[in-house]
Amino acid sequence: MSSYDYDLFVIGGGSGGVRGARMAAATGARVGLAEMDRFGGTCVIRGCVPKKLLGYAAHFSEDFEDAAAYGWQVGARSFDWPTLIANKDKEIARLEGIYQKLLNDAGVSIHRGRARFIDAHTLAVGEERITARHILIAVGGHPVVPDIPGHDYGFTSDQAFHLGTLPKRIVVVGGGYIAVEFAGIFNGLGAEVTQLYRGEQILRGFDDDVRDTLAEEIRKKGVDLRCHANPARIDQQGDGSLLVTLESGETIETDGVMFATGRRANTSGLGLDRAGVKFTHDGFVLVDDYSKSNVDSIHAVGDVTNRVQLTPVAIAEAMAFVDTVFRGSPQAADHHNVPSAVFSQPPVAVVGLREGEAAERGHRLEVYRTSFRPMKHTLTGRDEKTMMKLIVDADSRVVLGAHMVGLDSPEIMQGLGVAVKAGVTKEIFDATIGIHPTSAEEFVTMRTPLRTVERKAAE
Ligand code: NDP
Repeated sequence: MSSYDYDLFVIGGGSGGVRGARMAAATGARVGLAEMDRFGGTCVIRGCVPKKLLGYAAHFSEDFEDAAAYGWQVGARSFDWPTLIANKDKEIARLEGIYQKLLNDAGVSIHRGRARFIDAHTLAVGEERITARHILIAVGGHPVVPDIPGHDYGFTSDQAFHLGTLPKRIVVVGGGYIAVEFAGIFNGLGAEVTQLYRGEQILRGFDDDVRDTLAEEIRKKGVDLRCHANPARIDQQGDGSLLVTLESGETIETDGVMFATGRRANTSGLGLDRAGVKFTHDGFVLVDDYSKSNVDSIHAVGDVTNRVQLTPVAIAEAMAFVDTVFRGSPQAADHHNVPSAVFSQPPVAVVGLREGEAAERGHRLEVYRTSFRPMKHTLTGRDEKTMMKLIVDADSRVVLGAHMVGLDSPEIMQGLGVAVKAGVTKEIFDATIGIHPTSAEEFVTMRTPLRTVERKAAE
């Protein structure tokens, strides 16, 4: 009989933690889990899920306009933010209940409260001391805001889901996933949106054609997207409105400022030092390919490790952890060719290498690209473009990357993700019959490279 209270204790009831706990319990392990807030973590409670619901809401404004070209007369329209938030909250509560039920049904013991390490096998949750043979850290992250005067007047994505009213004018700070997604949501719901990005172009880390196309589309939809623009301070004015002063000295009057300026790990106060766990200067737990920290009994998965901050990746890491530790079948978490999407308006979806990255890695390339107006907008006249791009290794013919900005791109990219993961060649794309009429068929009908890129000389 083990001298530990549990075979596995999981800290955090988000996507990674819940999956790890359930799967370990299914092997017969005695599993406990601590959660200090709601079950479901960032994705379910204050991330992917509510964000996507708000994104649907935002798109209706265009749908109503576009309907006229198809013969529909849509009557007077009005939008009620509290109704949307209440309905969204109901759905999130339902999902949270499902997470709890999954844990209960799996036989996982739930401890409500904040867990702190006492040593490498011992935790305190409130007044309770708990020991475990293995501990899985799955505490996720939280948004961070720049330390500028008046930053407290701003809000983050955590609060965006609970605003009492929708501000008439909103400044969104940042150029990453969350910033472009919320700029699109607020704009679609009728707010006047200014987006400020400190760098040259939004979505750093994405293919340049994706970045340029999305920036153009965002501007066409009415967002005042400004690059090389960053706030220096925020002041409240007499009438309650806010004045954002940029580093350039320029000012913007607004009713709300949202910071989407990155995320940090939820490790402060966790007592990683007491357990001897190594972490980065900004609190992310350092792990090996098997999600093991430098301490044998302690693993970590999900956003707290800052590998790829995506829910399905956290889940895959948790599954690999259970295979490794509880099923005797060591599996490294696979971060290769992870498809992902940005739910901007229009959305972006990608898998594999971007052009510049593929060239940097020494591939000789064929680059295919197409840009067109989707069929839906032939009648509406809406000036919205779809862009698709394939990056092909000119020697092996393997498709190294697929990129898309446009309607339905996340749905399309999931299928292409399977193909790219399987190492598909351009010839197989060419041999695949398109589904007509769709946008997706363009991915299998691009025949002439836009350009070829010669191998970079070794330095
Ligand atoms: P990102 O790292 O994607 O973006 C942060 C943005 O804020 C960048 O544009 C960055 O600029 C800017 N920034 C950072 N610090 C400052 C500062 N001090 N002043 C001004 N600007 C600043 O973070 P997000 O918070 O948008 O998202 C976090 C992660 O969550 C993402 O990386 C993604 O993995 C995940 N996510 C995934 C989603 C999805 O799958 N659809 C949706 C939302 C989040 P710079 O580029 O110059 O560094």
